[in-house]
This record gives sequence, C-alpha cells and structure tokens, in this order.
Amino acid sequence: MQEKYMKMALRLAQKAAREGEVPIGAVVVADGKVVGRGYNVRTKRQLATAHAEMRAIDQACRKLHSWRLEGAKLYVTLEPCPMCMGAVLNSRIEKVYFGAYEQKGRSLTEALANANLLNHRVQVTGGILEKECSALITEFFSSMRARERAASSPAVLPSQSPDDGNAT
Ligand SMILES: [Zn+2]
Repeated sequence: MQEKYMKMALRLAQKAAREGEVPIGAVVVADGKVVGRGYNVRTKRQLATAHAEMRAIDQACRKLHSWRLEGAKLYVTLEPCPMCMGAVLNSRIEKVYFGAYEQKGRSLTEALANANLLNHRVQVTGGILEKECSALITEFFSSMRARERAASSPAVLPSQSPDDGNAT
C-alpha cells in the first residue's frame, strides 16, 4: 500500500523533472482516498513555499474543506524540509512516509516529529522506494551539471576537430 502511493508521488516528481524543477512529488491520502497531489514548482513560480508537500496539503485542505487532516497520511519522495514538517504538524497529518533521505544532514524531521509541538506527534517512516526516489534526484542533478558544462565550454568548430580531413 505504501509503495502504491509512493509510486504516485514518484510520477508527480517525474512531472516536476520534465518541467525543469527538482523532482519531488507528494500525495495526501485520507480514508484510503487520494485527496491531495503536488509537485515542486519553486522555480517556475519563483515561490520559496511551492514545495510538493505544501501543494499537496493545500489541495487536501481545500478538497476536504478543513485545515485539519487528522488521520491523513503524506507520501513524499524526499525527506521533508522543516517548513513542510511544520505544515504537516499544522494540518495534524498522522503519518509521513518518505522515500529518499536528505543527504546533506540538514533534516530536522525526527526532531520536529517528536517535539510534540501543537500537542501533535507525527509518525515518520523513511526509505519507501528509496532507490527509485533518490535515483530520480541524482539523475536530475547530474544531467543539470552536464547541461551547464556543455553551455560553459566553447563550441568545437568542425575545423578544430581531431578527425578533420576525414569529413566528407
Ligand atoms: Zn519542503
């Protein structure tokens, strides 16, 4: 079941990648139904808060006409940042399942989940389809670096290429 919803989140992340955004996708599930979907659109919108989780939580609140998402579960392809964990607490989401672990040690996920802020504790489980989720992000950044290298190196003119002379 967890993998089914994580696959949905992965598809949303792939959509983000196609639009040139860091590939992160999120899904909110309440009573066995998907009530919110989101993917990262920070660059396109130039909005610091346009993370996948924020968008999925916003959509779920609008759909259920409630800021309280008690009993709901959030599936997200990357370990949530502190802002998104704040939104999880504020919306009273019960469980968070994430895929890839934040690599740079900047995560406060555990601390925030257990801080008992707002009298609400969140259960967090990481590593759901971890390989797929982290591969997507790794591929995105390595292809971005390759594009940057290609753009910054001067174009090789045909006359300068080593196989010059063999050209037809
Ligand atoms: Zn976030």
